[in-house]
Amino acid sequence: MNFTKESLALQLNKVFERYKDLAVAKDSHNLVRLHGSIPVDILACGFHLCQSYLIDICIPLNSDKLPYVIDTGRSVAISYRHIYDDGVLCLDTDTRIRMRFLDGFDLLQWLQDFVEPYFFSYEYYVRYSSFPFGDREHGCQGILQTYQELFDASSIDAAYKLMRYCCLHSYRGHHICPCGSGKRLRNCHGNALRNFVADSRKLEILKKDLLLVERELIG
Ligand SMILES: [Zn+2]
Ligand SMILES: [Zn+2]
Repeated sequence: MNFTKESLALQLNKVFERYKDLAVAKDSHNLVRLHGSIPVDILACGFHLCQSYLIDICIPLNSDKLPYVIDTGRSVAISYRHIYDDGVLCLDTDTRIRMRFLDGFDLLQWLQDFVEPYFFSYEYYVRYSSFPFGDREHGCQGILQTYQELFDASSIDAAYKLMRYCCLHSYRGHHICPCGSGKRLRNCHGNALRNFVADSRKLEILKKDLLLVERELIG
């Protein structure tokens, strides 16, 4: 997330304070790699997880790419749908992570909001065959599902149309809502849309996501 060596160093101090076992394992010009185990202690949905997980965290430098986590300790079964073949964890959709950090990426917060809950969600799924915090598909479908939730739309098709509206039109309350309800925007998804159109940070994420979706739909 456009980390420089300097900006990352500041954040790493906080991370190492909280996660005592993590340390820098590799430090190159375009990537910093952390290695170590992180303790996860979460009580939610009637389930208490208290366990440590050995991971590597890769943080790209001077790049818009999000940091990612490798399951070094092989704690997660490879048959699980949210781990990729190379051992990289599918923490959440990029959209949800980027939307969480509109004011700037925070590595410590990311560990607490996405990495720790990932393991909780996994262990919960192993026991109860359901996801405590929901889950989303990969690729284009996952992006559309994320916007379906953000817009509170009835389908991913409606979510796609709402995304397009945000990119192609300026908001007008009397426009017919693109979701297909036949109602005017102000009486339908107007508030949800304005929330995006009025915030350039959200709109920028949405525009990039729409490009990804359309590329995948066409390709
Ligand atoms: Zn996934
Ligand atoms: Zn609508």
